[in-house]
Amino acid sequence: MSGRILPTIGGRRPGFGLRVRKDGTKALAVADADCPCGQFSESASGDMNVESLVIRYGRHRRDECPNPAIRAVAARQYAALQQSLSKRRK
Ligand SMILES: [Zn+2]
Repeated sequence: MSGRILPTIGGRRPGFGLRVRKDGTKALAVADADCPCGQFSESASGDMNVESLVIRYGRHRRDECPNPAIRAVAARQYAALQQSLSKRRK
């Protein structure tokens, strides 16, 4: 029960998921990601580090997470992403 409201990407449950924040173009981007399995909990700051955190978090959820429900959701999201990318290319 933190009471904080943060933009959350990739997770509907409060407290878990990926949060990325960047206030204005000159602000430092900050992000933190937590997986409900408890095996992935990281934070990063700076555009490069935030980007690599987002990629690692996606990979964890799709390939490494011990929770099959998480992997199933991530695989669906990844498939949808691939589909929209290949549609855009044509
Ligand atoms: Zn996990």
